[in-house]
Amino acid sequence: MDSVEYHGKRYVLVALVAVGGNDFMISVQDNVAEVQERIASAAVKSGRQPEDVTLVAVTKTVPPEKIQEALAAGIRHIGENRVQEAVAKAKEMKPGATWHLIGHLQRNKAKLAIQTFDMIHSLDSIRLAKALQKRAEEYDKTIKCLVQVNVTGETTKYGVSPDRLMSLLKKVSLLERLNVRGLMTIAPYTDNPELLRPVFRRLRELAREAEKLKLPGVNMTELSMGMSGDFEIAIEEGATMVRVGTAIFGARSRSETK
Ligand SMILES: *Cc1c(COP(=O)(O)O)cnc(C)c1O
Repeated sequence: MDSVEYHGKRYVLVALVAVGGNDFMISVQDNVAEVQERIASAAVKSGRQPEDVTLVAVTKTVPPEKIQEALAAGIRHIGENRVQEAVAKAKEMKPGATWHLIGHLQRNKAKLAIQTFDMIHSLDSIRLAKALQKRAEEYDKTIKCLVQVNVTGETTKYGVSPDRLMSLLKKVSLLERLNVRGLMTIAPYTDNPELLRPVFRRLRELAREAEKLKLPGVNMTELSMGMSGDFEIAIEEGATMVRVGTAIFGARSRSETK
């Protein structure tokens, strides 16, 4: 490390490289390593294996070159919340990554979604399920889905309410092109763990309840919950997939944070 002497004291030189305004240079590679370590220790802390938790790198608003850095650092799963944005980026990237749709899906984009994504985390209505079924038939595919649950009933959030979940699952079970793998939720925006933990716990309990129905084409192996601010708590409560953006790629511009 470089150092200088100044007025009899030795100072270490620290270089801060500014990129585009207030952003400091971030190393995607270092961030991926750090997030993976935090995932591993949260898993171990709760008596699970690090490999029980899949890291989905959330790349909304992130340019393809940065995504490539994440892939080079070992990321295999990419999460996008807009269909068109994902389509544009996928074209620029080497194949091999697994693509997850984590944002709300409109029925008129079902076709593009079927073509682009390996898993849809945001199934939340029978109408959407039927649109996906139709397109999946057309392309002779099956599509892995998670049902998004609005655990807290916040009006600003998409997702089926807990009391309608079982009836939705029963209907979706009849659509043979849809392979339901579990549940997804977005926790309230707060850093108070005492508010978050019960939300994650509730999703796990709902999954257990759903399992008991033993519906064909529906299993509850995956719980997609936890983001940059709360993924450790989510893992402690049973998350098998965490969706992490900011902690890997840095802050998004404010208008794009949804
Ligand atoms: C943006 C987004 C994330 C990632 O959020 P960060 O706080 O940046 O980690 C996760 N899940 C969904 C549904 C998102 O829209």
